[in-house]
Amino acid sequence: MGGERAVYFFGKGAADGDGSMRELLGGKGAGLAEMTRLGLPVPPGFTITTAECIRYYDAGRVLRSEVQTQADAAMARVEACMGRRFGDAENPLLVSVRSGARASMPGMMDTVLNLGLNDTTVQALVRQTGNPRFAWDSYRRFVHMFGDVVLGVDHEEFEHILAEAKRERGVNLDTQLDAGDLERITGLYKERVRARTGADFPEDPRQQLWTAIQAVFGSWFNDRAASYRRMNRIPHDWGTAANVQAMVFGNMGDDSATGVAFTRDPSTGENRFYGEYLLNAQGEDVVAGIRTPCPLTVAQKEPDEDVPALEEAMPAMFRELSDIRTRLEAHYKDMLDLEFTIERGRLWMLQTRSGKRTGVAALRIATDLVRDGLLDERKALLRVDPDVHLDQLLHPMIDPHAKVEPLAKGLNASPGASSGEIVLTAEAAVHAARDGRKVVLVRTETSPEDIEGMAAARAILTARGGRTSHAAVVARGMGKVCVAGCGALTVDGRAGTATFETTHGPVVLRTGDAITVDGTNGFVYRGHVPTVDPELSSDYDLFMGWADRARRMHVRANADTPQDAAAGRKFGAEGIGLCRTEHMFFGDERLPWVRRMILAVDETERRAALAQLAPMQKSDFEGIFTAMDGLPVTIRLLDPPLHEFVPHTREESDVLASELQMEPDAVWRRCQALREMNPMLGHRGCRLGITFPEIYEMQAQAIFEAAHAAHARGVHAVPEIMLPLVGTTEEFRRLRALILRVATTVLGAERDKVPFLIGTMIEVPRAALVADRIADEAEFFSFGTNDLTQLVFGYSRDDAGVFLPAYVDQGILTRDPFQSLDLEGVGQMVAMGTERGRATRPDLKVGICGEHGGDPASVEFCHRTGLDYVSCSPFRVPVARLAAAQAAVRAT
Ligand code: PEP
Ligand code: MG
Repeated sequence: MGGERAVYFFGKGAADGDGSMRELLGGKGAGLAEMTRLGLPVPPGFTITTAECIRYYDAGRVLRSEVQTQADAAMARVEACMGRRFGDAENPLLVSVRSGARASMPGMMDTVLNLGLNDTTVQALVRQTGNPRFAWDSYRRFVHMFGDVVLGVDHEEFEHILAEAKRERGVNLDTQLDAGDLERITGLYKERVRARTGADFPEDPRQQLWTAIQAVFGSWFNDRAASYRRMNRIPHDWGTAANVQAMVFGNMGDDSATGVAFTRDPSTGENRFYGEYLLNAQGEDVVAGIRTPCPLTVAQKEPDEDVPALEEAMPAMFRELSDIRTRLEAHYKDMLDLEFTIERGRLWMLQTRSGKRTGVAALRIATDLVRDGLLDERKALLRVDPDVHLDQLLHPMIDPHAKVEPLAKGLNASPGASSGEIVLTAEAAVHAARDGRKVVLVRTETSPEDIEGMAAARAILTARGGRTSHAAVVARGMGKVCVAGCGALTVDGRAGTATFETTHGPVVLRTGDAITVDGTNGFVYRGHVPTVDPELSSDYDLFMGWADRARRMHVRANADTPQDAAAGRKFGAEGIGLCRTEHMFFGDERLPWVRRMILAVDETERRAALAQLAPMQKSDFEGIFTAMDGLPVTIRLLDPPLHEFVPHTREESDVLASELQMEPDAVWRRCQALREMNPMLGHRGCRLGITFPEIYEMQAQAIFEAAHAAHARGVHAVPEIMLPLVGTTEEFRRLRALILRVATTVLGAERDKVPFLIGTMIEVPRAALVADRIADEAEFFSFGTNDLTQLVFGYSRDDAGVFLPAYVDQGILTRDPFQSLDLEGVGQMVAMGTERGRATRPDLKVGICGEHGGDPASVEFCHRTGLDYVSCSPFRVPVARLAAAQAAVRAT
């Protein structure tokens, strides 16, 4: 271990590392090594690995001495390349120290430039450049950055000193200060450092370097970097690399410049060079926004824009940069972003990496790269991120130009952005929508009664509940924007208010006030924030065609209505993987019958209510079979705890009693009798079918009658009847027998004309354990990973929102296991269940229908585990198609 390489040198065409080593060298380090190998002009330097950053933390923020030995050796090589020496009084080498993680985290971590300057070397810089102003400005900037980043002196203190100095000199701009001013300011900065830290500013360049490297490693855990990682799901244990590189200066006069470029337009994907630069400036000036950068190319200029493009100001430099653009794209076969500096007419490359792009651009770039012959179709599939780019293409999103501050953040439960007036009840949502008003339904939590209000609203916001809560599941099914579990929100129905706790105190919004909900990232905004609609280009069809050719797994949709089924099919679903029949019970004219059925005191009453529901179920099923003509439709028999459908307070119970014309005390007694201590583990799933067989009988009958009627109309119905929450073989055996009896009764001699399967969900750990036995009876398995996650972890799906965010924040879990399958634990159950099931029945059809079916990492796992299909909400179907294709490409 001790001798492990911690430092990778690059310079003058040779590099210890290369572009494939992102994990160890970070994106910046890998890019610098690769560009060096390609013979591009890269200032020499070295990278200290991400592994060393992790070791630094593990050792209690201490770097091992071996790192210093290796860094010294690498520094000697840099000195040889540059013909200068670090800390030399006559010919000093100056360096930058920059962070660089595996994933780009722009501006989140720290950087120190001009390191190596002190009272002696600054004089050498004056002599060498003949430009005292430049030398003292560099020194001033270094003391500021080092004082801030390494020594912890607030940067505002330095800015204040600078502002004071300008005021005293009666000037506005930094550029109006002369060398003498800057020398004096440097002195004031150092005095401030001494006052704040009790020690002199370090003059020894090696000490400067050593502490700066540790500060860069330390910045991996600063607050903004940690929250950026949380938002972008970057694991905390990746660490950052530290890059030490010879300084080149873009601020040495009007033959110097610095800039940033994209090899193609990052908004549209158009194949044109795109970027900006600043003459006579250092990189940080571009970022700081003090001066407005100029466009790179003439084509980029607005018609009335009167500034020189780099193409005009420095044509030779621009040509060289354009050549590099072409070489790098041909090499990486991707759109890249580039950072460059021009020092006295010489071009230097400081960074290259895959460029961030919009969804539209990602699709265009991927298809163009194939058209240009740079990539083949399969590899091109890896250039589009299913979660980020495709998702963006399929939903309206907040206008990227809108400058808005969020009011609060909840769970990003269903993507897209939408705005409307606040309504606090489902009825209000329905009424408002009838009047043509756009509303956002804001609730503490949602329940089955809210379904029509949810359908009427443009977006749903709840204070409680997780990503598999009722609101979230239903919203995703409808393709409706939803933010759930917004802890800062309190809803007061009586007062008609929605109150958000913010860092500036409570913000009280009222019914009718406008609000915008962004379900893609969980942000909630006050007022109407403009959104932009997705446009699906012909590139989309072409690209998704490649994805369909590449994937092995099928993709189905979770859909409960003919409309959702049709939407799923439009998005490319090859069947329905989960039709939750209880969602069909929620409509206005149905709920009273469902409630009668539940409140029934005996079988006769229950059968009477079921008889009313049967025709409605039948017509739903027929509609779904028609929408999915020729494709399999997995229908799950009734699953949820019955108490979800009944009132919880005496007041509500009395209202219901009068609606149903039943005796109030009897209704209330029955409601109380249905109450369970732990309904998720109670009377639900196939346990309902065992205790109230007439419910499953009615459902099976409706399915067979619908399939038969569909066939009679020439529609090819392919029902797959699925039993929920099975844990024992005996449950399955008995219910299967019941369904077969109904099939015989309904279909009689026509039974062979209606092909169907009977299978089970695997969502109770015991079912995965005895999967070999269950497969004796079951013709297919579908993993219900929502319940399976709940039961394997012992985390309540509905209550985990209270502690899961803290678990993810603290790194106890890397991701919310209800969102992305826990491969280590729950994944084992899926793998075991599949293996054991197939041991009994080699051709067992196996799929997944929990919310994970639309999560790319989980889809990849399903591919590796040999599942036949994944099923997800209709709007996630394209995401799953691409994720399944990427999994297949990566596996070859
Ligand atoms: C599951 O548990 O994963 C599942 C799909 O069923 P539900 O979410 O309806 O419990
Ligand atoms: Mg379930």
